[in-house]
Amino acid sequence: MNFDYLVVGAGFSGSVIAERISSLLGKRVLIVEQRNHIAGNAYDYFDENGVLVHKFGPHIFHTNSKKVWDYLSDFTEWIPYYHRVLGMIDGEMAPIPFNLNSLYKLFPSKNAEAIEVALLKQYKFGEKITIQQLQNNKSKQLQTFAAYIYEKVFHGYTVKQWGLRPEELDASVTGRVPIFISRDNRYFQDKYQAIPKHGYTEMFRRMLNSPNIKLLLNTDYKEIIADVHYNKLIFTGPIDMYFDYKFGRLPYRSLRFEFEFHNKEEYQEVGQINYPNEFEFTRITEFKKLTHQQNITGTTIAREYPEVYKKGFNEPYYPVPKKEYREQYMLYETEAQTIKDKVIFAGRLAEYKYYNMDQIVARALHLFEKEIKAEKDSV
Ligand code: FAD
Ligand code: UDP
Repeated sequence: MNFDYLVVGAGFSGSVIAERISSLLGKRVLIVEQRNHIAGNAYDYFDENGVLVHKFGPHIFHTNSKKVWDYLSDFTEWIPYYHRVLGMIDGEMAPIPFNLNSLYKLFPSKNAEAIEVALLKQYKFGEKITIQQLQNNKSKQLQTFAAYIYEKVFHGYTVKQWGLRPEELDASVTGRVPIFISRDNRYFQDKYQAIPKHGYTEMFRRMLNSPNIKLLLNTDYKEIIADVHYNKLIFTGPIDMYFDYKFGRLPYRSLRFEFEFHNKEEYQEVGQINYPNEFEFTRITEFKKLTHQQNITGTTIAREYPEVYKKGFNEPYYPVPKKEYREQYMLYETEAQTIKDKVIFAGRLAEYKYYNMDQIVARALHLFEKEIKAEKDSV
């Protein structure tokens, strides 16, 4: 088989790069995907009850990048969706990220008022602060408040999700869910927030619908690589696997999803409820609330149980953002540099980076422009 490019993985990074190569350069691409479907971890499908579900956990698209938004809009229409999350704290449902509404929900109003005044003395209305910043505040009152949020929102959830305490991870992890000095209950504040109207998988199908792209599912690239002639490889799987773990296995975090159908109109108040302190699962998603699916009887939910990743048993969903693992990754990255004219490493697993969907699309577009198109232009 002869191709210009071989792409390993049909997730966002592999599919965006393949689409660009095929439509802008008119070159032939073979995509090899070990799973039986496209779309990587963004894969969605209709379950046996007709509910559109996200197989690998809730995927909410949000971005401030017009470039990314415009690019994906060539392959999908959108349904506006503003994600709202509640956390079960001391038997109450309070908005997450923790904001002024959460404060008033969980504290007697006199105390809440005093804390609000103290917060607004130090921070601007509308400001986002990390739990670490709040913990380091000089005010004793705010330190006590920070200790409360740390214990009720971050500690239990993070230990479940990562098997590590918040301070053992990069601050960027809990920094994804900062304390918001605001009454805005949305999980994200990005300019563009939406769900693909016909689902993520359909968006990918349109992206890959080209005579220049051939797709091979159910195939590990190692099974076919010796039989394929290609000029360049785009690799979006785990980088440690590519190099046969020569610098040791990079740790990834995995999840087990438990899906459940309920024969009722609604299961919970919002699309996602977090359980930082009770149960072994971290959160429950109700998919209908994300997709606004109409004319469907009943509703499907998923509970997420974090697990240690073990090759062959489960999937490597999350790189673990921690200094020592970053250093281990850098050994692989240095090795990758020595073959960069032959192989491009792209994506959450290949770059060992906690990318969101929009960031990975931006990254894939950048790699295409700088490493693939530019190289071709200079020939
Ligand atoms: P992937 O989607 O993992 O694609 C890599 C592909 O390579 C996979 O399909 C894999 O099967 C394939 N592959 C690996 N090894 C081989 C091999 N040897 N041979 C052949 N194929 C191989 N982002 C958001 O923006 N919003 C969200 O709400 C959100 N929620 C998330 C929830 C969960 C539970 C998870 C895990 C992630 C979430 N994300 C979210 C992040 C999003 O999933 C990623 O940013 C995105 O999927 C990364 O795309 P990728 O192409 O790098 O990786
Ligand atoms: N987090 C937490 N409590 C919450 C929500 C998030 O402690 O109620 C922490 C936890 O460490 C989590 C991280 O913030 O892994 C990032 O949360 P996010 O919702 O972005 O996780 P993702 O959707 O990527 O799994």
